[in-house]
Amino acid sequence: MKICILGAGVVGLTTAYFLARNGHEVTIVDRNGLPAQETSFANGGQLSYSYVAPLAAPSIFPNLPKYLLNRQSPLGFRLRADPAQWRWLLNFVRACSPGTFQKHTAELATLADFSRTAMHDLMQTEALDFDFNRFGKLVIHRDRKSFKNAVALAAYQKELGAEQDVLDEEACIALEPALAGLKGQFSGGVFTPSEEAGDCRKFCEALDTVLQEKYGVTTLYHHKIGALRAEQGQVRAVSTDRGDIEADHFVMTAGLVSRELMRPLGVSLPLCALKGYSLTVAVPEGAETAAPKISVTDSQNKIVYARLGDSVRVAAMVDIGAPDAAVDPRRLETLKKQVRSTFPGLAGLERARSWAGLRPATAEGKPIIGKTPYRNLLLNVGHGALGFTLASGSARLIRDLIEDRAPPVEMAPFALGHVR
Ligand SMILES: Cc1cc2nc3c(=O)[nH]c(=O)nc-3n(C[C@H](O)[C@H](O)[C@H](O)COP(=O)(O)OP(=O)(O)OC[C@H]3O[C@@H](n4cnc5c(N)ncnc54)[C@H](O)[C@@H]3O)c2cc1C
Repeated sequence: MKICILGAGVVGLTTAYFLARNGHEVTIVDRNGLPAQETSFANGGQLSYSYVAPLAAPSIFPNLPKYLLNRQSPLGFRLRADPAQWRWLLNFVRACSPGTFQKHTAELATLADFSRTAMHDLMQTEALDFDFNRFGKLVIHRDRKSFKNAVALAAYQKELGAEQDVLDEEACIALEPALAGLKGQFSGGVFTPSEEAGDCRKFCEALDTVLQEKYGVTTLYHHKIGALRAEQGQVRAVSTDRGDIEADHFVMTAGLVSRELMRPLGVSLPLCALKGYSLTVAVPEGAETAAPKISVTDSQNKIVYARLGDSVRVAAMVDIGAPDAAVDPRRLETLKKQVRSTFPGLAGLERARSWAGLRPATAEGKPIIGKTPYRNLLLNVGHGALGFTLASGSARLIRDLIEDRAPPVEMAPFALGHVR
């Protein structure tokens, strides 16, 4: 079948991959000249299959005044007179109730588990160089209460079969010596050895090459999609600034812009931009022990660290409703200050490459994967803070839908109209 993928971020490329591997004739369209030039460009690099809890959590409430009043907090709000944004916030608040939060976490965990399998399958089939590692993830807790809660959660997850170790401060530093500068300032951590990391942009670039060279996928870069032309319940063509593209099926994978592209078709996507920042710090030769090797999450400041080859990628912050991906120097300075206080020996921070991106997020933190009112148009959007982690699993589900096969993961929780 002829399939057109609308957007070449990590979600679009993985979708193209699983379809092309099964013999479909795939075309990818993107407005940029290269893959992964938008939100998939310099994300946190975490393939974090065990930490998928949505941002909308019961613990957000007690901290809301702090987040709203403190400009240095990890969460920021940019409130506008936009009814869609208020609806999103209302749904976000609703999703914070303990029962709803647990349900969404369980649904995401099932998809993440499937995504790990799909990603491993992809990596075993194709030799992709993207600074992948499986050094594990250590989530550190500065205050006793947060550590106590994490210990209880780890005990519960162990009963369900999760491989996690609870470590006191000394054991954390023994595992990750770069944390020595924080001695006396945190209570302990939970280590998950199976967690992985990699450079999302490099992954996309390598996959793009495989798609073209091995699977004969057509990539139409520098093609800006203007509209989808629909008639009698199906999409006939996609109009771009360089001509129309016809196909049997279309898959919307244009990240946040999917919202604007779907609107003229009468489909409202409940997506909001959650702006985040990253820093890429080159690790100087001889200073390796001062830079974290395993992935570290600073739970209080909501900062993630991942070793990607010779660099450390730092990612943080959630600015709800940010209008664009411009780097705000004040937010960047706050992030650098927090990084310095955690890893004082991490040289080269001043020369770090900074970046900001807009996570395309639903209020519930779940992606929207599946059918639309148009019989040949599918959605694979709204992966929020987990796009790299969930991309391969989501892509496999799209392939099953197009091939009319029963998906291995229940898809109702991710359906349009179900996810808010
Ligand atoms: C700071 C930060 C840290 C993050 N850390 C992690 C992490 O550690 N792990 C993780 O799993 N996820 C992480 N994420 C989330 C992840 O990066 C996103 O979920 C993911 O990149 C979304 O991918 P996407 O393909 O849906 O969107 P995008 O990457 O934005 O791709 C959409 C594509 O559509 C194209 N497009 C848009 N409009 C048009 C148009 N009109 N015509 C043609 N093409 C168009 C764009 O050019 C783009 O290439 C992070 C995000 C941020 C911002």
